[in-house]
Amino acid sequence: MGFKARDRARRKESGDDKASTKAKEGIEACGVNGCEGWSDASMGGRSISVNDAEDMWGKGYTARKNRVRICKSCYRSWKKSNKQDDHHY
Ligand SMILES: [Zn+2]
Repeated sequence: MGFKARDRARRKESGDDKASTKAKEGIEACGVNGCEGWSDASMGGRSISVNDAEDMWGKGYTARKNRVRICKSCYRSWKKSNKQDDHHY
């Protein structure tokens, strides 16, 4: 008893916490303001048009050349709210 908790504390101290998602760093930050996700394709990121982004987040995003790069979780929530317009089924 207590061994596990102590082990976890030790690992945190040494900075060897690779299992945590926060340790995983991408290159492209998510374009949605306040989101700390990564929009790298290798991490499931996608890019959507500024029109789509505005529907979802208003002005709360950062665009680059009329595209907004967003992370996997932002894309999923965007897709969810746009399902009624999705005719690619
Ligand atoms: Zn995001």
